[in-house]
Amino acid sequence: MTAIAVLGSTNMDLVAYVPKAPRLGETVTGRAFRTVPGGKGANQAVAAARCGGEVVMIGAVGADDLGVRLRSALASAGVDTAALRTVEGASGTAHITVDDEGANSIIVVPGANAHVTGLEAGDDSRIGAADCLLLQLELPLDAVLAGARAARAHGGVRTVLTPAPAQPLPAELLAATDLLVPNEHEAAALTGLTDPHRAAEALLEQVPEVVITLGAAGSLYAARGREPLTVPAPRVRAVDTTAAGDTFVGALAVALGEGRPVDSALAWASCAAALSVQRPGAQDSMPTRAEVVAFAAGQGIR
Ligand code: AMP
Repeated sequence: MTAIAVLGSTNMDLVAYVPKAPRLGETVTGRAFRTVPGGKGANQAVAAARCGGEVVMIGAVGADDLGVRLRSALASAGVDTAALRTVEGASGTAHITVDDEGANSIIVVPGANAHVTGLEAGDDSRIGAADCLLLQLELPLDAVLAGARAARAHGGVRTVLTPAPAQPLPAELLAATDLLVPNEHEAAALTGLTDPHRAAEALLEQVPEVVITLGAAGSLYAARGREPLTVPAPRVRAVDTTAAGDTFVGALAVALGEGRPVDSALAWASCAAALSVQRPGAQDSMPTRAEVVAFAAGQGIR
């Protein structure tokens, strides 16, 4: 089994469905409300666990009811939550308004995530025991850096960074990143280049391997000293692409950890993501390993 450590965020998404989003000072009546466990860290952890990884989540939830639910959502997906701290105050929340056109506006309140500023006792050895460390940018940068540093100090731990939300990346973090996985918007924000091939080339000056995800167009893999590889996404009817990227990264980490060659690992991850976009929700939409195996076989991928 691939051992995966995730150092990242855990948020509860509080989603209000409204005919039209309120203007400043206006009150509108919503149609429906849902609470959905999310946060990029937790999403990647759930995706990897469903796909067959042995996953430990390092992060924090608040000492509130939402924190209890966030922890239990991870645990019921099979994620080890022993390193998920409960800290004073509120859990991380994302306040999301979705209108009848499907357009959304989002306020993220980091809450407990902001308390994760470094590693705590035991985290270093959890990272050292992993094949792969998954990082994103929804925790304070000091914590992300500490995780990357720990992975490097142990050696043999592949670091995979999803640079979201997009922001300038410190040289030390890039130097400690093995694989960078931006989507096309993040790749453009990082490089100022909208053409994914050119963006990938520019990013390769800073990290040894890059995967740029391209939505329904699939993904682009680039590594130093190799021809770039374009991996198409399976053609499916997408109903909700929330967390498609997180599903892709979680599945990719599992596949690479199992020793698949990169083209096969990317194809497998694309199958996992293609399954997730056909179902509504974030963590709820993520496929199990058996589902990915069956779907991949149907696509001629072993
Ligand atoms: P994105 O974050 O939108 O680039 O999506 C991440 C990954 O999810 C892509 O690289 C695809 O593998 C998959 N994906 C996203 N949207 C679709 C879609 N409409 N159909 C099939 N796969 C998709």
